[in-house]
Formats: sequence, C-alpha cells, structure tokens
Amino acid sequence: MSHTVRYVRYVNSLLDLVGNTPLVRLSKTTDGAKPLVLAKVEYFNPGGSVKDRIAVRMVEAAEASGELKPGGTIVEPTSGNTGVGLAMVAQAKGYKCVFVCPDKVSEDKRNVLKAYGAEVVVCPTAVAPEHPNSYYNVSDRLVREIEGAWKPNQYANINNPISHYESTGPELWEQTEGKITHFVAGVGTGGTISGTGKYLKEVSGGRVQIIGADPEGSVYSGGSGRPYLVEGVGEDFWPETYDKNICDRIIEISDADSFAVTRRLAREEAMLVGGSAGMAAAAAIRLAQELSGEPGAEDMVIVVLLPDGGRGYLTKVFNDEWLAQYGFLAHARQGTTLGEVL
Ligand code: PMP
Repeated sequence: MSHTVRYVRYVNSLLDLVGNTPLVRLSKTTDGAKPLVLAKVEYFNPGGSVKDRIAVRMVEAAEASGELKPGGTIVEPTSGNTGVGLAMVAQAKGYKCVFVCPDKVSEDKRNVLKAYGAEVVVCPTAVAPEHPNSYYNVSDRLVREIEGAWKPNQYANINNPISHYESTGPELWEQTEGKITHFVAGVGTGGTISGTGKYLKEVSGGRVQIIGADPEGSVYSGGSGRPYLVEGVGEDFWPETYDKNICDRIIEISDADSFAVTRRLAREEAMLVGGSAGMAAAAAIRLAQELSGEPGAEDMVIVVLLPDGGRGYLTKVFNDEWLAQYGFLAHARQGTTLGEVL
C-alpha cells in the first residue's frame, strides 16, 4: 500500500514493493519473429528475484497458521534467491534466519545472506544425502533443535505456487489486457509455472498455452537429473510444488544455448539477467520462430519470465574463461550478432 503525506510518496515497508514487475519487449534477440515477445523482468523485485513473491506468501501463511510465531527462526536449506527473499522478509518482520548450504556455494552468495543478518551453516558437498552432515539432515536437525524454528520448504510448500496464482498470473492478465497467448518459464520447484499457468488457464478458459523451459538432462524434459550448469532450474526429482497437469509443452534447452542467449540479452536488449533467464528466453525465442509460420502469428503475445539479474553470475556466464572451460565460448560468440566485438 502506498501513502501520501503532503507531497511525500512512500511505502511503509520494502515488502510492499514485491511484485508488479514490468513487461519489456524483446526486439533484437527474437531475430524478426512475428509474435510479440515480452519479458516479465523479475529483478525489479526488491530482493532481486522472482523468489521474493514466494518468500512473502510462505511467511505470511505461516504467521496466519501459527507455525511461525513472533521472535521465531526461519530455517531453510538454500543459498540462492529463495534465501535472499526469506532473509529480506525476515529482516522486515523481525524474525531470525538460518540458511544451510553446501560448501560448493560461493562465498559471495553466502555473504549476501549474512549481509541481511542471516546465519549461514555450511555443510560438506561430498557426503551422501543420508549422511548426518548432509545439508538436508543438518537443516532438519536445526529445525528440531532451535526453539520456534520453522522450515518453509519451498519444494513442498503449497504457498509457493499459490503466490504465483495470486500475483504473477493476475499481473500478466492485466498487463496484457487478456491478450497473452503463451507463457514461458523455466522450471525449478515448478512454483512459477504451476501457479501462474493455473491462473492463466482458468481465466482464459484454457486458451493460454503454458510452456516450461528445462535444462537438457533434467526430469521435466525426460532426463534423470544429469548435471547441467545453468542454476536454479531443472531437478533430479519431482517436487510436490510442480503440477503435472499445467504445461502444454516442455522445451529442452542446452547449457550452450542458455548461456549464449543470456549474453545476447545483456548486449542486445540491455538486460543483465541470470542463466535461467537466458534459458527461458531461448525457449521463448524458439517458440516465436516456430509460430512465425502460422496464421495470425502477428497477433500472438508470448510472455517469458526472467527470474533474476545477472550480477550474481559475473564469474560464470559473463566470464569468458569460465565459458571457454566448458567449450561454450565459440557458441556464445556465434549466438550473438555482436560476435566480432566480444
Ligand atoms: N531461476 C532461478 C535463478 C531460480 O532461483 C529459480 C528457483 N529455483 C527458478 C529459475 C525456477 O523457478 P521455480 O522454482 O518457481 O520453478
């Protein structure tokens, strides 16, 4: 809610700024495709990612149900955007926060969480999930041992997809005045695609097509969870937060294509976004190209959700040596019309 005192306009809390992110047209990276392709740019959220939406909804639901009481502690095994969202909400509402993460997580990421006042417990990566020191077991133990602890568990918490059903979906319908024809998003926990997709299917009477983007090798596109490098998307198991009845189609994207498009977005559209945004955009561009040959393609409106900004990935996708080490640099260069100046 916003307030006005004389001519001073302000909100009461940073949390009031979660959601209502803008739609920005992708023009150059679509290579002349006929449908309108719009990006829902989620780095405009105050914590910097789409995960602010679920953090607010999960915490408020736990407050309402009494699972999280004043002075309580939020404990979650995460090092990424969900951690930042939860740390921000915890700080704004006066809760303590403990995040458990494997030691492979970069110090920069841990420091962001600490900067919000959270405590970070680091566990060895090189142990099996059933080992007492695995990060799954350590987080469960902390929940048992800390008084007033509550674990959001984004992979099983229904308020994760609900937050998108209640915010992302209605925003897209209003912003496009019901003209959206396709929605494309990467799938991690599945909360974004399941909640937004359910709303858009319902409100359009099933007309809006819902398309998941998945890294090659992940379960959603028929893989076993073989490692891929793009972060935040793809799984090696089926989370409860993924609704199998929503997606009309899954488009599989290679790491090489995800990273090439991530770099194109920065250089050609001025959008500095993360690798999973590049992956989702790669799927949306492929879809737009395919649909260009169909009747009425000019009237189609494809919206692709870009989950976070690119600052957290400067040493990875935006680093030439890192890309070259995996053999992706040549592809990233070919994939951009600005190849000669890379
Ligand atoms: N991209 C990034 C960077 C993420 O952190 C996440 C969340 N894991 C996603 C995409 C996928 O979103 P969801 O969990 O809602 O499927």
